[in-house]
Amino acid sequence: MPETMTATRNHRLRAVQPRRTTPGWWRDACGLVAGGSLLVVVALWVQNRGVQLLSTGPAGLLTTTGRLTGLLAADLLLVQVVLMARIPFVERSYGQDELARRHRLVGFTSFNLMVAHIVLIALGYAASDRKGVVREVWDLVWTYPGMLLATAGTAALVMVVVTSVRLARARLRYESWHLLHLYAYLGVGLALPHQLWTGADFLASPAATVYWWGAYIAAAGSVVVFRAGLPLWRTLWHRPVVSAVVPEAAGVISVHISGRRLRRLPLRAGQFFVWRFLDGPGWTRGHPYSLSAAPSPDGLRITVKDLGDGSRRIAELRPGTRVALEGPYGRLTADSRTRPKVTMLASGIGVTPLRALLEELPYAPGEATLVYRAGREADFLFRAELAALAARRGVRIFYVPGHRVIGRESWMPHRAAALSDEEGLLQLVPDLRDHDVFVCGPDAWIDAAVAAAHGAGVPAAQVHVERFGW
Ligand SMILES: Cc1cc2nc3c(=O)[nH]c(=O)nc-3n(C[C@H](O)[C@H](O)[C@H](O)COP(=O)(O)OP(=O)(O)OC[C@H]3O[C@@H](n4cnc5c(N)ncnc54)[C@H](O)[C@@H]3O)c2cc1C
Repeated sequence: MPETMTATRNHRLRAVQPRRTTPGWWRDACGLVAGGSLLVVVALWVQNRGVQLLSTGPAGLLTTTGRLTGLLAADLLLVQVVLMARIPFVERSYGQDELARRHRLVGFTSFNLMVAHIVLIALGYAASDRKGVVREVWDLVWTYPGMLLATAGTAALVMVVVTSVRLARARLRYESWHLLHLYAYLGVGLALPHQLWTGADFLASPAATVYWWGAYIAAAGSVVVFRAGLPLWRTLWHRPVVSAVVPEAAGVISVHISGRRLRRLPLRAGQFFVWRFLDGPGWTRGHPYSLSAAPSPDGLRITVKDLGDGSRRIAELRPGTRVALEGPYGRLTADSRTRPKVTMLASGIGVTPLRALLEELPYAPGEATLVYRAGREADFLFRAELAALAARRGVRIFYVPGHRVIGRESWMPHRAAALSDEEGLLQLVPDLRDHDVFVCGPDAWIDAAVAAAHGAGVPAAQVHVERFGW
């Protein structure tokens, strides 16, 4: 099937000792903090007779359940904010992909709880005030402190959730969706006053009010520090600037970035930054691009495929253009390694982080394999560099050109359709189950490649994925 390329030289490389710099307990700690914060708000509810009110009749039952759902919704909203605040500790424990997935799950859960809160409180108050629900809601919004703000906040959160439903999101340009999504912060902020001014659980206890202010300040602070402060600091401290712009293939450009004190960046091969090139209007829009070569004190390199207006702009960059850095992010690094042998499964531009990893990872000759898929021969990037890596480090490289198998999801080209995806992989890497498998490319292709690796007997802990989001 593929074109093979192997050359081994007698390299004496020390045995690979997997080393982790992201301790496993970090993840547990994140889970504990999030779970603990939920327990705190439930404890507040219990402390304020929340349980007793369940058996005081329909009005009491509705109102107290409404209070509980409100507390849980509000707490999860803060967890939401912290999940996407890019706190290095959290980012390195989960990675962007998984954080985005959890953000989505927590977001919809929090929203559903918020809707339940609004309905239950309106029904409960109407029942105890012996008023119609519409009348009650009107009075709540116009007469209760902070409720007008909370109503505006709810409208913002409804807009964010509606535009994040897959169907709606698919119809929006990424930039438009991202801009609308920022209203979530407004929604969270506008909800706070009514919680403190009318929330029975906070009014009853100054300690609870202090705790809740503390939680809000910590969440807002983490966004300011890690999404604005740290990127600004790194950009000013390292002064990154475009040093060269190099065409790699049709519609693919490499950008070399130099800067100061780059060796001090906590950066690994396999990671990405969100890049902003200060080259005129639209510079505020950041785009994530992985490093396409191992980081070096002399400079960084990214390689970008022209997919839309943001990536197309890269071709117009000029040396000397200032760059704003946000990151580094990503867990597709040596940290996640568990085995001496590695196999890289790359498709198209997804080769970028894997090419960088092949340069940085320690491995013995013959212990690293790259399976590189592309639609056409002309689409393969970095041929000369990969040949040099094969010669210098004994990497086995399989170029697998051809359009996809028709009629089933597959990582392979059409001409290999007679084989199952697992057979195709094991034909190239017979001892694949003893490898760490790093996978990057378009989403659907990744799903097929990961399924094939699992089908070929590779445990989930040895499969490491970076999704480019399309
Ligand atoms: C972790 C990661 C690493 C990446 N590394 C590379 C790389 O090394 N080389 C490369 O060519 N591409 C890479 N990408 C993809 C690249 O970010 C998108 O192709 C680019 O942002 C497209 O923007 P656009 O304006 O050109 O196209 P648009 O038409 O605006 O977007 C095309 C698609 O790209 C995605 N996208 C757009 N903007 C963003 C954004 N700011 N954040 C996340 N996704 C976005 C959306 O899902 C959208 O559907 C990476 C993406 C991610 C998430």
